Amino acid sequence: KQGERLQKVLAHAGIASRRQAEQMILEGEVAVNGKIVQTLGTKVFPEDKVTVKGKPIAVPSGDYVYFLLNKPTGVITSAKDPQGRKTVVELLRKVPQRVYPVGRLDYDTSGLLVLTNDGELAHRLMHPHYGVEKTYRVGIKEKLTVSVINQLRNGILLEDGKTAPAKIHEVNHSGEGSFFFYDITIHEGRNRQVRRMFSRVGHPLITLQRIGFGPLKLDSKLLPGMYRSLNKQEVQALR
Ligand code: URA
Repeated sequence: KQGERLQKVLAHAGIASRRQAEQMILEGEVAVNGKIVQTLGTKVFPEDKVTVKGKPIAVPSGDYVYFLLNKPTGVITSAKDPQGRKTVVELLRKVPQRVYPVGRLDYDTSGLLVLTNDGELAHRLMHPHYGVEKTYRVGIKEKLTVSVINQLRNGILLEDGKTAPAKIHEVNHSGEGSFFFYDITIHEGRNRQVRRMFSRVGHPLITLQRIGFGPLKLDSKLLPGMYRSLNKQEVQALR
């Protein structure tokens, strides 16, 4: 056992990026077993007690796990809900590690959600700088005009600014009821962004499902509420 570098442990715990973690150490915010440590690269072990500004951080034993969940609607994407609604973490209750979701999907949104205890990777995937592409399949009541499609493609002015260019195309569907389906790919992740974009152009969403996240795709074999482990290649592709 060789221990793990302190800044890496902080980053993996999802506290901060590795650079920010180094800053926290240098600024004297981090203690190991009750003593402030300001030396970068200090090795820590699972039995060590690490705190940041007095708050304890778990030192992982190194076994990172990664899951792809097909989130059903009617479940929230956070560890706890003050209103007591069901959370995605409860869907993975058989998983012994404490995993948390990478980003968020609305209560009414279904589809691809990654959960992991690798806080560093999670932090990176959520950071706007990396602009991970997310693809959503939306269901609406009416067909979009070419002009509206171009608006969505070029960017929509929302309360929090204009959205970045998006990719959008109609989905050929047969027998999927009376809705029209489109796939839209964005790399921003503003709150309720896709819903707000479509509402703004007069097409409130009936359904919203995430079908792609970076290199990952939702496969149809994974029913809503089911999850599977990511394989090595998939984890590698996310890095
Ligand atoms: N955009 C939304 O509006 N909702 C989601 O859940 C994800 C993207």
